[in-house]
Amino acid sequence: MHRHARYALTMVRFTVLASGSRGNSMVVSGGRTRILVDAGLSCRELFRRMKLADEDPTTLDAILITHEHQDHINGLSVTARKLGIPVYFTEGTHRAWMRWLTPRRQMTYAQWLEQCRQQAAARQAEADAAAAEGEPDEVDLAAECDSAGVDSTQGSAAEASAKAAEANPHAAVATVQKDPTWLPSVAYFQAGQPFQVGDIAVSPFTIPHDATDPVGFVFQTEGVRMGVTTDLGYIPPNVKAQLKKLDLLLLESNHDLEMLRDGPYPWSVKQRVLSRVGHLSNEAAAEFLESEYDGQAAYVILGHLSESNNLPDLARVTAERALNGRASLLANRLLLAEQHQPISSIYF
Ligand SMILES: [Zn+2]
Ligand SMILES: [Zn+2]
Repeated sequence: MHRHARYALTMVRFTVLASGSRGNSMVVSGGRTRILVDAGLSCRELFRRMKLADEDPTTLDAILITHEHQDHINGLSVTARKLGIPVYFTEGTHRAWMRWLTPRRQMTYAQWLEQCRQQAAARQAEADAAAAEGEPDEVDLAAECDSAGVDSTQGSAAEASAKAAEANPHAAVATVQKDPTWLPSVAYFQAGQPFQVGDIAVSPFTIPHDATDPVGFVFQTEGVRMGVTTDLGYIPPNVKAQLKKLDLLLLESNHDLEMLRDGPYPWSVKQRVLSRVGHLSNEAAAEFLESEYDGQAAYVILGHLSESNNLPDLARVTAERALNGRASLLANRLLLAEQHQPISSIYF
């Protein structure tokens, strides 16, 4: 009797809090373990969406990061500090994230100030390019989750420090000493080497994307397998091999090729999105679903849809056509992840 009561409490659950170039995050739960995958929204917004989805932030056990692009790490340090939980990265991603946040300290004050200015300018240039591309161009200034420390969600610790330095050099030094990269606990994993977080087995795999060491994940818990892969230029054999025998597949369906070609992006940005380390098109996702996907997942979720170069209906129809082309796959439920709100949790 007791056993049954306990089993009734444990369940496998998958919640997409946000998906797209303005922020990505999801919650994977199984047994007694809950993992936040990516923290691309401010801590405050993550917590707000978790409440909407009936997920409790205080029960999270860990944060896993796929790669260091801003739409995946915006709220990371504040959220990790607020909850006091470990962050799992590859070492390369952790270093890239730290570089993004910190000016080097072993330099003269004048050198440091100059570096802050250059980094701020580079970030501005990146933000301009990203805005043209539909990457996150606005930052939630109300992002601070209470007294969680330095707020990395603004991505401008150095810039703020530089401004403060001009006003008051002593205050600036104090700001830097707070260390914007400080986290309660960091754990490293390597692509291709499965590891365990509580009751959830995690298999990270390399994806082709223009970040330092980007990964996708397969999560397995209580006999349920969930695969997550967005931000990839194409689907190489190692990824195809991972996306088998899944109960749930979250797959990128970023852009419609024609919309991207005819759309407003500058040519250089179009090239980047289309490249082998860019993003997966509706057509590429459909090709995978039609030809190589084994059709076993009860749920297929399309994610990371571009707001400038895609339409939800277009992504859906393209994937549906691919699935319908194979009668055996009709049982698959096709869902679309959303940028601006969580979608209903999926339970197993
Ligand atoms: Zn992304
Ligand atoms: Zn990315």
